[in-house]
Amino acid sequence: MDELITEDEPCEQCGLCCRIFGPGIAPTPANVYVWIEQGRTDILRWFVAFMEKSTPVKCTDLLTENLGNVVSFEMRHPDTGEYVTVCPFLRRVSKTRYLCGIHLVKPDMCCTYQPWIWGETYFNRCNALKKTNPNTRE
Ligand code: SF4
Ligand code: SF4
Repeated sequence: MDELITEDEPCEQCGLCCRIFGPGIAPTPANVYVWIEQGRTDILRWFVAFMEKSTPVKCTDLLTENLGNVVSFEMRHPDTGEYVTVCPFLRRVSKTRYLCGIHLVKPDMCCTYQPWIWGETYFNRCNALKKTNPNTRE
């Protein structure tokens, strides 16, 4: 989901993709590097790093020099350690419009998610895809 609608960006900011897939997003090491460098503990607190030769580490405790040992990142609730059901960064700004609260530093997988480009990312419930590909079937 993009933050602003532009002519060449048909996303309608309905938030559906974020509501469905948001809890499963994961950053790249480069994303986490930027968050650490910028002191974005508000973002880091929602992720856990699974390491090559040690137990999982909360991303707020991660050092940039340890990023090379990370096998994967997963989103977890900072208080309970449980899986989350809603992306914590999704902001509802009107009845039908949602924005990303960390748009400028959101994970790469959110930046490159373009379901309106047929074959790019398969999500046939995307309103922008339906608009650009009216023959799309549910
Ligand atoms: S489902 Fe499609 S139109 Fe809705 S926010 Fe996601 S990309 Fe945009
Ligand atoms: S980080 Fe932003 S773009 Fe990515 S799923 Fe959450 S609200 Fe959507």
